[in-house]
Amino acid sequence: MGVSSGAGSGAGSGAGTSARAIIIGGGIGGVTAGIALQQAGIDVIMLERAEELQEVGSGLPLWTNALSALQKLGLAEAIEAIGIPATAVKVSNWRGGILADLRSEDLFKELGTISTVVHRAELLAALLNAFDQEKVQLGATCVGFRQDTEHVYARLADGRELAADLLIGADGLHSTIRAQLFGAQKPTYAGYTCWRGVADIDSTGLGTWTWGKGYQFGITPMTNDRAYWFAQRYTPEGMQDKEYGRKCEVLELFNDWHDPIPRVIQATKEEHILRNDVYEQKHLRHWSHGRVTLLGDAAHAMTPNLGQGACLAIEDAVVLASCLKTTPDVVSALKLYETLRIRRTYSIAQFARLMGWVVQLGNPLVSGIRDGIAKRIPEEVLSKSLMWILEYKTPDLRPGDAQNPGQEVQKRSIVRPQTLEL
Ligand SMILES: Cc1cc2nc3c(=O)[nH]c(=O)nc-3n(C[C@H](O)[C@H](O)[C@H](O)COP(=O)(O)OP(=O)(O)OC[C@H]3O[C@@H](n4cnc5c(N)ncnc54)[C@H](O)[C@@H]3O)c2cc1C
Repeated sequence: MGVSSGAGSGAGSGAGTSARAIIIGGGIGGVTAGIALQQAGIDVIMLERAEELQEVGSGLPLWTNALSALQKLGLAEAIEAIGIPATAVKVSNWRGGILADLRSEDLFKELGTISTVVHRAELLAALLNAFDQEKVQLGATCVGFRQDTEHVYARLADGRELAADLLIGADGLHSTIRAQLFGAQKPTYAGYTCWRGVADIDSTGLGTWTWGKGYQFGITPMTNDRAYWFAQRYTPEGMQDKEYGRKCEVLELFNDWHDPIPRVIQATKEEHILRNDVYEQKHLRHWSHGRVTLLGDAAHAMTPNLGQGACLAIEDAVVLASCLKTTPDVVSALKLYETLRIRRTYSIAQFARLMGWVVQLGNPLVSGIRDGIAKRIPEEVLSKSLMWILEYKTPDLRPGDAQNPGQEVQKRSIVRPQTLEL
């Protein structure tokens, strides 16, 4: 990993090719923003407080909306090389009874691939391949910023101050930049814990999303005979692993659920299981002030019930770069960016919270009624309820592409042969 000496103080004066940006945070959102801004002709410096750029060891479904954004960055092949495409959604109850099966739904067939499941660390590596890593400064903790009418200055823990035309807070759930812009707010505990694992197993045909007993469990096939799974249940905040271990605890919760759920847990090494309490941030009415804006979890940390947090960070990155490319004034570009993004991310966060509540209904009578209703909802209605998320297209960015961030882009997605069901 290269380490740059700093952004210096000779910042340019506006958006577009002469601008210089500082990105705080080298997660999926920050690195994708780095790629997108570089492709828009902007000079980027990325500040990451960790000594190494790394992601947690779990899977990540990249839904069509994120795939489309990555395609705009020329990364379709890189993602296809590390992922397995899924072409449908199948929901079961804990005994294995089918509640919804969207395999033959026309809208989904039209989309082709609806998600490609990748390993997070492999995704980050693929993204870093497309980013000029000389522009990354590791061990660089941003403690705040100041700005005037010409520049913004990032303040670092080591006392340095770096100047640029704009600053992007892609610094996650506990964002320093968000706190300075809009006041520090403790993230809200969603009420549940999520376990995530990567199993070593032939995952062909294992895809399922299962609802029941106040918990949920999902499995998606990954490359190299691996399967990504997640499990979620209500727990008091801060609960620790049982003394007999994380894997045994998950097995105990799901041992009577339908095949292949216990089998997949069994096939997971203890050290390949993560446990996180789930948090979200309060909705912000604005993301930007002057030459500073937010991106990814710093702007819209949400519950993972729709698997969209990282996907939306990827969308943010492409939309932001497009706004900076097409709007001469940085401050106006950042305002346009937040206008294009706030409503969509807010709606998805709300929907995700609602899904968590519906899927994890604990009362057997109420969840039985829910299952009965789910079975009766026409497939077309179910797929339409997801289409507005999946069909979203970010603006085109690269040479030869149309350059209007607000445009209605044609309905097209990365389509690969239908090889797997989710
Ligand atoms: C249990 C769980 C399951 C999830 N499942 C999914 C899923 O299936 N699909 C999906 O799309 N999303 C999912 N998400 C959400 C997804 O993980 C996040 O939305 C995404 O990783 C956010 O990326 P980010 O780059 O915005 O932030 P982060 O990944 O948090 O990166 C922020 C970076 O900023 C750095 N940083 C922080 N502060 C500073 C500072 N002051 N100075 C310098 N650097 C700093 C950090 O070290 C970090 O590297 C899930 C989240 C959880 C918790």
